[in-house]
Amino acid sequence: MFDTMDLLPGEECVSTRSDNRKLIEEGWFRDFGDGLALAGGQCLACGGIFFPEKPVCPNCFDPARKKVPLSRKGKLHTFALSHMGPGGIPTPFVIGFVELPEGIKLFSLITQCEPWDKVLKVGMDVEMVIETIRRDEEGNEIVGYKFRPVPEGNP
Ligand SMILES: [Zn+2]
Repeated sequence: MFDTMDLLPGEECVSTRSDNRKLIEEGWFRDFGDGLALAGGQCLACGGIFFPEKPVCPNCFDPARKKVPLSRKGKLHTFALSHMGPGGIPTPFVIGFVELPEGIKLFSLITQCEPWDKVLKVGMDVEMVIETIRRDEEGNEIVGYKFRPVPEGNP
C-alpha cells in the first residue's frame, strides 16, 4: 500500500526510487524544495498560470514561461460518484473538479472521503495527495495526484 504522505516531505522524485512506482506524467510534478508539487507553467509575458505546462501561453500565445508550483490546497468545485471508468481504476470512485487559488480547475480523483455523500460538500477545502491511480500491465503502480478533504483541525 502506497502511503499518501510518502512523497510530500522532501523527496525529490518518485521515479528515482528503486521500487515499481511510476509517476503518471513526469512533467506534471516537480520538487520545488518541499516535496513534490504539481508544476504549472507561468507565462512571462502576461503572468497567466496554466496546467499542464504548454509550449505557448493559452492566453497570449507567448512561448516564454517558467515552471511554478501550484497550490496543494483548493476548493472542491463539483464532484460525482462513478461506477464505470478507464481500465485499472477500481470502481466506484469519486471524480471532481478542484479549483486552485491560481484559477486553475483540475479534473481529479477525490480520495479518503468515505462515506463520500456525507463527507463531500461543494466548496469545501481539499488538498493534494499523491496516491496510486492504477496498475499497468507490468504490475507497476502508476501514481498521480488526487485530492482529499482537508483533515479536521488542519485548515
Ligand atoms: Zn501569456
